[in-house]
Amino acid sequence: MKKLVAIVGRPNVGKSTLFNRLTQSRQAIVTEIAGTTRDRQYGKVFWNGREFSLVDTGGWIVNSDDILEDEINKQVNIAVEEADVILFVVDVRNGITDLDTEIANMLRRSNKPVVVVSNKADNFEFGYQSAEFYALGLGDPFSVSSINGSGTGDLLDHILTLLEEGGEEEDVTDIPKIAVVGRPNVGKSSFVNALIGEERNIVTHIAGTTRDSIYTRYNKFGMDFYLIDTAGIRKKGKVNEGPEYFSVIRSIRVIENADVCILMIDAERGIESQDLSIFSLIQKNKKGLVVFVNKWDLIEEKDSKLHKEYENAIRQRLAPFTDFPVIFGSALSKQRLLKVMEASKEVYRNRKQKIPTAKLNEVLLPIIERTPPPSNKGKYIKIKYITQLPNTQIPSFVFFCNLPQWVKEPYKRFLENQMRENWNLTGTPIHLFFREK
Ligand code: GDP
Ligand code: GDP
Repeated sequence: MKKLVAIVGRPNVGKSTLFNRLTQSRQAIVTEIAGTTRDRQYGKVFWNGREFSLVDTGGWIVNSDDILEDEINKQVNIAVEEADVILFVVDVRNGITDLDTEIANMLRRSNKPVVVVSNKADNFEFGYQSAEFYALGLGDPFSVSSINGSGTGDLLDHILTLLEEGGEEEDVTDIPKIAVVGRPNVGKSSFVNALIGEERNIVTHIAGTTRDSIYTRYNKFGMDFYLIDTAGIRKKGKVNEGPEYFSVIRSIRVIENADVCILMIDAERGIESQDLSIFSLIQKNKKGLVVFVNKWDLIEEKDSKLHKEYENAIRQRLAPFTDFPVIFGSALSKQRLLKVMEASKEVYRNRKQKIPTAKLNEVLLPIIERTPPPSNKGKYIKIKYITQLPNTQIPSFVFFCNLPQWVKEPYKRFLENQMRENWNLTGTPIHLFFREK
């Protein structure tokens, strides 16, 4: 399983500043996706050749000084439920507050590795004062300054050590791993139940995986696949689902560990901000996508026109990525579920496909000849040769040319569209690189 680290703490201790500091290197590379929100609460951290995801659970809570204890409770609970390591941020300039003690008590009961981060230690003197947080009973505090970066290297080293103690991350199989995601009550459990039924109780975990495995293997509908069970599905009825936005945090693990995500949309509600947040997680992690509009049985007067309009509206909301299957159906009356599984299988295949170099050049070079990149200040870009990179997560192609830096976004998009027209890449993101030859 991919590793997840969560940040908790009361308001104004510097959680989001720490988050930005730790994810900084990455954020510069990641291209923002239009229409997505909450970007600052979830990101990837790279350190010493390792990678993990970071989520600021507090960032989802409205910041105010009279924050409800209940809110903090939920924040800590979701962190404990989802994360491998928890960063508990405190403010060295305030010392220990009642709320800090409260959080510490919850964290001590959790049995999860916790790191106390004494923030705002911008100079030596504050560094010494950090020792007071030892009294929280969660081990030695790490002094950092999220503003000037001091201490964050040691903190990252320590996080990596804790993550390694939790067991290695494994990617064990080339059988499709499929996740069913969506907001609460969209029909995820109904979908999985309709699909798998009683067999859900027969659990075959991937051999050798450490910690609680979330994969269950099935052989049905002529396909062999893993379904990733979400916390929401597993614990339904046992835990309070919490505020709606928690479903986005719960989706992180599931999405990170999947190849293809079935994003369920409620036909009666259409796409709302929470759906967009989950979609953005799928995009950021470059996963395959199938959109399933559920509860279609509740829509009256369905005709093919409405169908098309609805579908277009969805694609518009999720643009610029629009090349994915959209299927309308009902988990409750078991309509078109097989279709969804077939589409997932197809997306998986598209994601894994290898296009021979000869074919790429045979198809694309004439297109490029007919519509070459626009010249720029009298310079002409010549694309000479195209090849697919081996062993990549998603199909990735290199275009060798004389002036790679002059190839601009609109032309890249043109090439991507041409590729999507000529090959079946539905549901999968692709990468185009331009290199000098
Ligand atoms: P959050 O509510 O816990 O996410 O806290 P923020 O990250 O929004 O930070 C709250 C305030 O503390 C902001 O004014 C930050 O600029 C400030 N702050 C955060 N980290 C540091 C730090 O390391 N040193 C100092 N001096 N101020 C900090
Ligand atoms: P989850 O929270 O996403 O797992 O959603 P559930 O599977 O628990 O479904 C939430 C509610 O929506 C339940 O009352 C289901 O019976 C209902 N539901 C799920 N799928 C459909 C559907 O296709 N049509 C209708 N009419 N109701 C549905």
